[in-house]
Formats: sequence, structure tokens, C-alpha cells
Amino acid sequence: MSNPIRPEITTPEAITEEEPAELSLRPQRLAEFIGQPKVKESLKIAIEAARSRREPLDHTLLYGPPGLGKTTLAMLMAGEMGTSVKITSGPVLEKPGDLVRELTSLREGDVLFIDEIHRLRPIIEEFLYPAMEDYRIDVRLSDGPNAQMISMPIEHFTLVGATTRFGLLTPPMRARFGIVQRLDYYPVDQLIVIVDRSAEILGVEMTDAGALEIAKRSRGTPRVGNRLLRRVRDYAQVRADGVITDEVADAALQILDVDQYGLDEMDTRVLRSLIEQFDGGPVGLNTLAVAIGEDAGTLEEVYEPFLIQNGLLMRTPRGRVATPLAFRRFGFAPREPDGAAGSQGTFFDA
Ligand code: ADP
Repeated sequence: MSNPIRPEITTPEAITEEEPAELSLRPQRLAEFIGQPKVKESLKIAIEAARSRREPLDHTLLYGPPGLGKTTLAMLMAGEMGTSVKITSGPVLEKPGDLVRELTSLREGDVLFIDEIHRLRPIIEEFLYPAMEDYRIDVRLSDGPNAQMISMPIEHFTLVGATTRFGLLTPPMRARFGIVQRLDYYPVDQLIVIVDRSAEILGVEMTDAGALEIAKRSRGTPRVGNRLLRRVRDYAQVRADGVITDEVADAALQILDVDQYGLDEMDTRVLRSLIEQFDGGPVGLNTLAVAIGEDAGTLEEVYEPFLIQNGLLMRTPRGRVATPLAFRRFGFAPREPDGAAGSQGTFFDA
């Protein structure tokens, strides 16, 4: 699916992290979208049903950490429905007029993708409700207390909202989505398939071991995997014979200071703070958030899931705890169980 709209507006992460080459790495068909089997299956069913009824797809909410494929899925949904997609994002829509322009330019069945939908201003959100429910918008003809309003019909479109912060979405907004799907971090075997596919598109030779090395260090995230692949490719071209082997990947990623476990700077900050400032915990979410200078909700929804899934952090009734694996990762001996203080001694396998 060629998409001239894509370069206009995208997520802030995408603008800073992605390069033009990333566009061609985006799967063009749902069948090329690797992993997330549950999400894919439910979207496939919804698409097939909508197509056979000749109706637009239900409004869909995709949530999960950045770089896992929310924008890609929105584009694929439009592609599979044979319609177009318009891409915008919560912070970009400042006034209802911005949304009027988007909504009135949509044709039947088109997808309007709103990234970071939790950041929509309340006034825009209110404006969006009748558009989503009744396919009409209320337009104010002038300013002032006696301004006239007219109600305008718009085409039956599909709103695809994406958010990294499901918890910040207002209940009325959540209630207006017929399909709600969560994207999870990708296991290494799926990331291998993703970087293999990307290597093929980029025309770079890569061994299985090379792909594994990149996949392991991609923080469960296809966008990170593709980014690392491009950096390793550069290195392979300049310093090796162009082939990405595990040694080449390892050498390149070491130069780039990419963590062996795929941890990024914030992951490292969370774990180091937990270990060095709080003796591994348990420490309350809010205290930990203040210590690392991050909002508690973001810490809980955006950063912790990866650390928990990878066995580096635990949520306990008394607070957050660094696991023995986290201690070892930073070169500390895992803490001895501390039964006397009644702490979660059993969590430590020292
Ligand atoms: P999000 O919108 O969740 O931040 P994107 O949809 O922009 O993430 O995905 C980032 C990049 O990762 C895409 O350009 C695409 O190349 C790649 N990607 C994401 N998910 C997949 C997948 N399941 N299979 C293959 N590539 C993927």
C-alpha cells in the first residue's frame, strides 16, 4: 500500500527514531505482520466480516508500548479494506477546526488514525464523540455566545486510536471503541523473523546467529530491531565484508553501547535506582518514580512491563523489588534474604 500521507504526521518517537528507510520496512499486508497472533486474528475476523457486510470497520483502539506496530496495523487495516488512511496525533489536534478538516476529507470506510489518543484535549474529545457515534459533526458558524451551530454529516469512517497509556484514556472514550486490542513485546524468535525480513528488504546478508544477536538486544520491539539492524549493516559494510554474523553484530552493538539484554537508558535508570538507592526494594511506585524523575503512571504502564516480563523487576504488595537477575546485570551480588525485617526474602535466590 503506498501511502503518501504517512510522512506528514506521526508519533514523536517515530519522527526521531525512524529514518526514511523505515517506511519500506513496514509490512504491506496483514500476512506480513509478524507475531501478535491474537491481535491479528481478531482484526482478520473483523475485516472479513466488515467486508462481507460491505460496511466500514468498527472503531478500533490499539494500545501498548511504542514501536510495537500500532501505526502499521492501522495502515494495514485500511489496506485490507481497500481504503485510505489519514494519520494524525492527539497533541497535533489543537482545536475542533483541525479535526473538521481531517473528518470532512475522509471517504466512506477510510481510516483516521489518531496516535497518542490519550493526549487529545477534552474539547476535541467531546467533538469526536458524535463523529464516532452518529457520523456527524457540530460546527460553530461564528464566535460568541449567540453563535449558530450546524450539524454536518460526515462519511462512515473508522477511527483507529493508539495509545501507550491506556490508563489515561477517559471512560467515555474507551467505551466508543468496538475493538480494543493490546500489543505485547515480541519474543526473540519473532524478532528474528522481523529483522530477517528487514535484512532481505535492505539487501543485506545476515547469518542466523547474526539475526539472533540483534533480536536479543531489541527490547522486544520491532522498531528497535530495525534500527539496530541498520546500524549493524553500516558497521558490516565498513569494518567487515558486508555480512552480518554474530561477531559483527556484537562488535557493532558494543560500539553503539547497546545493552546485551536490550535495556534502554530508562530501564537502566529504574533498575539502578532500585538497587543503589533503595537496596533493591521493596519501594513504592511513587517513591521510585520521583527518584528517577518520571511520572508514576508512565513508569507503571510504559517501562515496568518490559522489566517484569524479562524477570528484572517484581511488583509485590510492599512495592517494587529488583530481582537477583537485575542485581547481577549491574554487577552486584544478589542481596541476602532479609527475613528479620519481614521483607520478601523468598524472592531472592542468592
Ligand atoms: P507504533 O505505532 O506502535 O509506535 P509502528 O507501527 O510505527 O509502531 O512500528 C514501528 C516499525 O516497526 C514499523 O515501521 C515496522 O517496520 C516495524 N514493525 C512493527 N511491528 C511489526 C511486525 N509485527 N512485523 C514486522 N515489522 C513490524
